Amino acid sequence: MSSHIVGNHALTKHMESNILKTSQDAKNARIQNPMVIDATVGQLNKENGTLLRYLAVDRLLKELTDQEMYVYAPVNGSKSYSDGVIDWVFGKHKESILKAFQVNVIPTTGGSGALSNSIYNFNDFGQKVLIPNYYWTPYENIAEEANLGVETFRMYDDEYRFNLDDFERKAKELAARQGRLFFLMNDPCNNPTGLCLTTEQWRKMIAVLNEIAAGDIPVVLLHDIAYIDFQMKAEDQSRDIFAAYLDLDPRILAVVAFSGSKTFSMYGFRIGAQIGLSKSKQVMDDFKRVGDYSVRARFSSVSRPAMSVIGKIFANPDLKTGFKAELAEARLILEKRIALFQSCADREGLKYLPYGGGFFIGVETKNCRIFEDLVADGVYVIAMPGLIRIALSSVNLEDIPRLVSAIKKNV
Ligand code: PLP
Repeated sequence: MSSHIVGNHALTKHMESNILKTSQDAKNARIQNPMVIDATVGQLNKENGTLLRYLAVDRLLKELTDQEMYVYAPVNGSKSYSDGVIDWVFGKHKESILKAFQVNVIPTTGGSGALSNSIYNFNDFGQKVLIPNYYWTPYENIAEEANLGVETFRMYDDEYRFNLDDFERKAKELAARQGRLFFLMNDPCNNPTGLCLTTEQWRKMIAVLNEIAAGDIPVVLLHDIAYIDFQMKAEDQSRDIFAAYLDLDPRILAVVAFSGSKTFSMYGFRIGAQIGLSKSKQVMDDFKRVGDYSVRARFSSVSRPAMSVIGKIFANPDLKTGFKAELAEARLILEKRIALFQSCADREGLKYLPYGGGFFIGVETKNCRIFEDLVADGVYVIAMPGLIRIALSSVNLEDIPRLVSAIKKNV
């Protein structure tokens, strides 16, 4: 009999790296001293430091009827939301994807709900999820919550190219060891690095997954696209990576984790989706069966107001065009900050990881006390082993030269 108030499985739960808590500390420090730079928050802020809201979202939210606002959202999503997500995510590749795959949308509480449902349902307890060595730290917590662990491969080679060789080695090793491969990749606009893979690199990763699946080993690809709308290219081009999906072996299940948080600036509403894709009807029936069950068993259904607003933007071509123009302006805000960061860093000789898009830029470091050293200089970032994550999404232009100097001094 256990003498603990928590269950045995929960005894070791400790949040080692809590991004939201560090952000809260940074916010409090800035209230005390406005010179403090808070580069912790994965949220896009305007130059005046307030959250960037989209007019289309704001207007629609205020016009919702009681029905669109208050009632339970349908577990499988409204038609405009679920069909619209497929349109939005795959863009010009939608037709070819729908022709090649069985596709199913399950609305979830943010991208996080999509990640946790997928990780929970498509692994055996005790197994490891494969991720790159630089990763959004909640992946680890989501895995542990599901009685799983993570195993990493080196994200970059010595020339700072994506390390396909290490991916292949680790993927094959893990698949052989546990008779299953579950691979989680955040791309494009990787958090924490800013990496964006090419379609060719996706083709090569998928060739490795296919090789493993051909040995009758279950293979699941979980593709986290939380920042897809912030790649530094037109949105139809950021979808080109999905052309590589057509090569997927019929035995493989791909799950695209969509998040409404960043794209619509609806962070607090908690909306997203698991988009399941497989060429096999049996695999897709399984995806739907366990996915629907877990939604009901874990959070019941998602935010109705968010589903109503996003569904309206998806379904109305004029609203969609207007919203896309707003998104392009938001990307421009980021682009200016990134360009300034890069020019200051180049001038000061500060190395940073290759950036293709997203809210963050990554700087490698050997300083184990980098977080404390930067705080002493009035700068808050998210520190992880060997790397700091700098959220330029929430730093205004004026603060960037000072931010770069502080990082250069302490890195
Ligand atoms: N994936 C990554 C890499 C993220 O950074 C986030 C949010 O910060 C998410 C997924 C999930 O976001 P949400 O649950 O708010 O949709």
